[in-house]
Amino acid sequence: MNNSPTVLEIDSKAIQHNLRFFKSKINSQTKLLVVIKAFAYGSDSVAIAKILEKEKIDYLAVAYANEGIDLRKAGITLPILVLHPQIENFENIFDYNLEPNLYNFQTLQSFGKLVKEKNLNDYPVHIKINSGMNRLGFRINDLKKLKNSLIELRHLKMNSIYSHLAASEDAQEKEFTQQQISDFDQMSDTLIDTLNYKPLRHISNTSGIINYPEAQFEMVRLGIGFYGFGNDKLETNKLKNVCNLKTKISQIQHIDKGETVSYNRKFKALEHSKIAIIPLGYADGINRALGNGKGYVTINNQKAPIAGTVCMDIIMIDVTKIKCKEGDDVIVFNQQDHILDFAKKTNTIPYEILTSISQRVRRKIV
Ligand SMILES: *Cc1c(COP(=O)(O)O)cnc(C)c1O
Repeated sequence: MNNSPTVLEIDSKAIQHNLRFFKSKINSQTKLLVVIKAFAYGSDSVAIAKILEKEKIDYLAVAYANEGIDLRKAGITLPILVLHPQIENFENIFDYNLEPNLYNFQTLQSFGKLVKEKNLNDYPVHIKINSGMNRLGFRINDLKKLKNSLIELRHLKMNSIYSHLAASEDAQEKEFTQQQISDFDQMSDTLIDTLNYKPLRHISNTSGIINYPEAQFEMVRLGIGFYGFGNDKLETNKLKNVCNLKTKISQIQHIDKGETVSYNRKFKALEHSKIAIIPLGYADGINRALGNGKGYVTINNQKAPIAGTVCMDIIMIDVTKIKCKEGDDVIVFNQQDHILDFAKKTNTIPYEILTSISQRVRRKIV
């Protein structure tokens, strides 16, 4: 049992709010898939999946097979798309009733063979089209051969055909994105022509939902927006922060002018100073680049900078000007702005800040 005061609180009210926001952005017939890869963007994928099951969303997606297996073992029954299945895991994918993305001829043939050996029909799979991201997916010149393969592999059921936008958040790339959307439209039509049923089509991630409402097709894939981040300040302000990282002050050191703090003595006290010792460090996801006053935490409603070098398990905070005592609450972040500040100072994006919170940190739904 982990009773540590260091906890990542997952705000279920914020989740409801964000879901409502995105449901209002899509047509009533458009299906909603929520992406809960990487522990639901660093939160808690089982807990989030349970909420989403109650909310009756249509689909879940994870990146890797083991993430889907964890969900099944926890009793989640929603359909789960595995975005990056690996041939080594196909047997597991099958056993746990997960739905693989088949993105090239090798994965298609290999999964097709497995399902045939099991004597099954209509096993749900998904076909990924590369429309310009150049990550996973079939290219336009694969289509002819792919059509023939789909005819051969009638025992597979293409639940969806999808693609991924490379720059849906970037207004400068509008032309490119619109080209991706129309290429996807055409390529998916060509494939659907060979089938006697209609798979779902989807291409939009969070920024796609916001910026390209015309590209909803039959489903959208919501990721970062669900966790509280839109593609600009305006959209983000309409969302609520889901993941709040909190802890408590372990100790307070009163140091004299001229003394130093932490490894390599990077913080030097210019006056008699008060230093709060906080029980989380870079092994918990507090990037070392946030040391030496770059990042801050909030104590008793005041911003307090990180003093000196970030340690593996601890950060020290300059609380010289803040009224506080041992055991007081520390908010590492509980607002999008704070996470965005961490991201900016460490040259990254909120996605990476959230997914970096290590599994050592306790999760709690509130
Ligand atoms: C991660 C991911 C998403 C979600 O993207 P967001 O920008 O977080 O909304 C959607 N589709 C695919 C294929 C992904 O890998």
